[in-house]
Amino acid sequence: MPGPYEMTREELAGLLGGEPAFRVDQVWRGLYVEGRRPDEMTNLPARLRSSLEAALPPALTAVAESRSDGGRTVKWLWELEGGARIETVLMHYPDRATVCVSSQAGCAMKCSFCATGQAGFTRHLSAGEIVEQVVAARRAAAPARLSNVVFMGMGEPLANYDNLWAALRRIHDELGISARHLTVSTVGVVPGIRRMTAENLPVNLAVSLHAANDELRNSLVPLNRRYPISALMEACGQYVVAKGRRLSFEWALIAGVNDRLSDAEELALLARPLGAHVNLIPLNPTPGYPVRGSSPAAVRVFRENLTSLGVNATVRRNRGTDIDAACGQLAARSGAGETGVRPVKLVAGKR
Ligand code: SAH
Repeated sequence: MPGPYEMTREELAGLLGGEPAFRVDQVWRGLYVEGRRPDEMTNLPARLRSSLEAALPPALTAVAESRSDGGRTVKWLWELEGGARIETVLMHYPDRATVCVSSQAGCAMKCSFCATGQAGFTRHLSAGEIVEQVVAARRAAAPARLSNVVFMGMGEPLANYDNLWAALRRIHDELGISARHLTVSTVGVVPGIRRMTAENLPVNLAVSLHAANDELRNSLVPLNRRYPISALMEACGQYVVAKGRRLSFEWALIAGVNDRLSDAEELALLARPLGAHVNLIPLNPTPGYPVRGSSPAAVRVFRENLTSLGVNATVRRNRGTDIDAACGQLAARSGAGETGVRPVKLVAGKR
């Protein structure tokens, strides 16, 4: 079963075979503009509604939905066909609503401090499975408008390039979210960054840097052995020149590991020539990594050091730590899992 968001418009037309052409438009609009399931498309004849509902069941089944921050952060645990599980996080801010989507079930990159990496890789998501996360979040965000999509959930998006790109095109063309509100975050898959440079959709690029010398970065981000910092910076530079978009570096601050003055100085040498913005994320706790995040005071000092070295840096507000929805915590455990955190609200198999 492809799921409702896998098909092209032509494939939908094929599925609707004997129906008049305007029906194709109605169903396509229903799926993308209105975000409805076929059985909710009341402008269709009942017979067609139910046959479409049977032909296009959702690709995502909600296993749990948890809320925190007074309802402003929502995390879904979804089950996919075949039983793999992924998570999606919706965050409401005063001026925007952002959904953080998964691109893979699990992740093969094995970054030492990341819960998804600690759990290993299960499979790639299809384009339709990615798009459906955005549609589900957009429904839940209403009446607020879902404004931003970030590929910062489970998985390495550039390791699933073709499906990532098909999903981005669909999100841009059919859901109407502009390229500057779409952000791909990568651990540094250089060939993927090069492919992005050649595309005609100028999305934002975020690079999970975390260390500015190869020795330290090799130990935190194993992929650095394949694509060391010099190659990564060269690819980033070409992206920035080609797209004119602001590049950002993500930096999870780990006490005594990458929060020293010398780390700020090394980072500044990489960030300044590229005009990169640094997002500081105090390390969130994960079961497989014993080192603690930097203290609030150390985070402040690190940021001040970067500022005085001429680098723009912001501290990312922590969202959803109590429901394991924060950066690096997505591990698709259901219910009261190994962390002992119980979802606030359980939804049985329905959105
Ligand atoms: N694989 C992509 C997408 C994941 S984004 C990437 O690495 O960019 C998730 C972000 O959270 C990345 O910047 C990742 O490095 C960061 N992260 C992972 N584990 C974390 C943790 N325990 N605390 C804070 N940030 C973490």
